[in-house]
Amino acid sequence: MGQGSTSKPGSSSATERRLQRLGLHSPQDCVVHLPIRYEDETRLTPIGSALPGHSVQIEGVVLHNEVQLRPRRQLVAMVGDDTGRLSLRWLHFYPNQQKQVAKGRLVRIRGEVRAGFSGPEIVHPKVTAAGGPLAGALTPVYPTTDGLTQPALRKIIDRALEVADLSDTLPDTIRERLDLVPFSRAIRALHHPPPDVSANDLLEREHPAWRRIKFDELLAQQLSLARARAQRLAQKAPVLKPSDDALRAALFDRLPFGLTQAQQRVVNEIEQDLQRDFPMHRLLQGDVGSGKTVVAAIAAVHAIASGAQVAIMAPTEILAEQHLQKMVDWLEPLGIKTVWLTGSLTLKRRREALEAIASGQAQLVVGTQALIQEKVEFANLGLIILDEQHRFGVGQRLELSRKGEEAMGAMTVIPHQLNMSATPIPRTLAMTFFADLDVSVIDELPPGRQAVLTKLLADTRRTELMAHIATEVAKGRQVYWVCPLVEESEALQLQTAVDTHQQLAQTLEGMAVGLVHGRMKTAEKAQVMADFREGRVQVLVATTVIEVGVDVPNASLMVIEHAERFGLAQLHQLRGRVGRGVTQSVCVLLYQNPLSAVARQRLRAMYETSDGFEIARRDLELRGPGEFLGVRQSGVQILRFASLESDGELVEQAQALAADLLQHAPDIVDRHLARWMRGKQDFLRT
Ligand code: ADP
Ligand code: MG
Repeated sequence: MGQGSTSKPGSSSATERRLQRLGLHSPQDCVVHLPIRYEDETRLTPIGSALPGHSVQIEGVVLHNEVQLRPRRQLVAMVGDDTGRLSLRWLHFYPNQQKQVAKGRLVRIRGEVRAGFSGPEIVHPKVTAAGGPLAGALTPVYPTTDGLTQPALRKIIDRALEVADLSDTLPDTIRERLDLVPFSRAIRALHHPPPDVSANDLLEREHPAWRRIKFDELLAQQLSLARARAQRLAQKAPVLKPSDDALRAALFDRLPFGLTQAQQRVVNEIEQDLQRDFPMHRLLQGDVGSGKTVVAAIAAVHAIASGAQVAIMAPTEILAEQHLQKMVDWLEPLGIKTVWLTGSLTLKRRREALEAIASGQAQLVVGTQALIQEKVEFANLGLIILDEQHRFGVGQRLELSRKGEEAMGAMTVIPHQLNMSATPIPRTLAMTFFADLDVSVIDELPPGRQAVLTKLLADTRRTELMAHIATEVAKGRQVYWVCPLVEESEALQLQTAVDTHQQLAQTLEGMAVGLVHGRMKTAEKAQVMADFREGRVQVLVATTVIEVGVDVPNASLMVIEHAERFGLAQLHQLRGRVGRGVTQSVCVLLYQNPLSAVARQRLRAMYETSDGFEIARRDLELRGPGEFLGVRQSGVQILRFASLESDGELVEQAQALAADLLQHAPDIVDRHLARWMRGKQDFLRT
């Protein structure tokens, strides 16, 4: 955005970056950046009625103030009127803030009241002189980001309101039939509530202005989903139908186990999709350890037996490498030529790989992001398999599907796509964001699995744990020891892992302790993983690089250090690395006190359940939907205003109108999507 100077220090590009972080790239975006709530500064609350949990505006006399030094340096003041008194507290303050609350001054205070140690208090209140005019209308409060103040953002949005196009995307006839207020009126009312509007309606989003915005948003979503669906059905994909069953039968002969019923069912679903002439877009969901890899192998064999190439892509080298090994083990004896492609290949090896892929000689390509980042040309790519798809960014997933389109050149034949994930998508999200995605679920674990026993252990009991590890190893078991993410610094994280490795190696005398982390060379990493897999290393110290997908069935003890720093989905993934064989496995969550409330809830969830769906549900509660969509970083949010639960009637109306517009008024569709979905439409294809 062009504008950006604010009253705060900071260059305009800093402001711009902050706006970008909010997904605000143009005045159009700013216009639909709507308040999350409003503050009522139109009236004064008697101090005696200022209750904890409420944002209030009060006026009173400063009774005293002092700088306290214990437990830390802070400014504390007390104000009062004839109904009561209230403390004010600043943990950081400037000398003039202390002057503002000089004893005896009459001040106006704004802020949120909370229950303090000695009665109600406001931390870091806003202080002005008492007696000024009161606001004529509610003050909007916008979602914002660090460093961008409400007044600055308000100013930017006001400027956007002057230059942006606020014309209606809906013709009056439709608007009136659906009883919707004009767009411009709705937008202006939400940014600048008229004096007569009730704070309650605006907060509850029942006001006609909100109703219009919610309708527009739902309509945009329905339109783009319908477009994505129509586009996909109109696309051509290679019909993959093997002429005989020989290759498939040979694979089943090689497998050391039979498929579970759930695996069998999803295999059928996938094989049916592959025989259609439009691209499959299927999500294969199955808890950690449910056996998704073999399903991928069967799908790959189906495609290869039909004469197509297959690409399997994983988010980390370790995982890709492991897939490679499994695929080579299962598929090469069937005569399938497999090629490995990651960013760390030597130039020569890479050239060879690229040639084999381009000539069609390579039937299966396994790799990392390198598959899309480099100039890879496929002879006839028929199926793309993405493992742990939620770990890929939206952008990467998109690039991959574009790759398919390019690969097929002018004919625009698109490969089928199978996305695998252990992170279940809650139903409401599946119904909306992923409405164009078919979902297969493996809801059964292979037979003989025992649930992993989860233990919570305070970090102070490390020594006991060491002794336990020694006994386990003596029994021939193997152990993972996961070191935490250190948010502040990657170097620090590395250091922790290196230190822990050294410490364990010293304590666990006579045992082979290995170390694997993200900064190691690929070959080194592969070597350590191979040593662990083959039992030459008994204890593997790792950073979170092993988080997803690693499969070493003999490992039966997982220690996660500083478990309180991990997210729930991550913990579940890590725990899923054990319990893959027939021995009883244990996951020890080492934590350090004091625990935050959220950390406590997460650890409790891990202790109470091992069901991936239940974990996902609790995770959704604790973190919100962004994480599930893998879109946190990209700033993409789709439903910001409407709620699928409470706006059911609007959803239906939007659905009906969407169908109508798509058929009769494509120009309206374009305009409406341009306003609401700019830069987001592509997201729906991934
Ligand atoms: P995930 O779904 O987490 O990717 P994997 O595909 O890695 O799980 O499978 C976990 C383990 O279960 C592997 O060791 C795999 O060989 C094994 N496995 C998969 N399917 C079966 C089955 N039907 N019976 C027995 N073991 C199986
Ligand atoms: Mg897996």
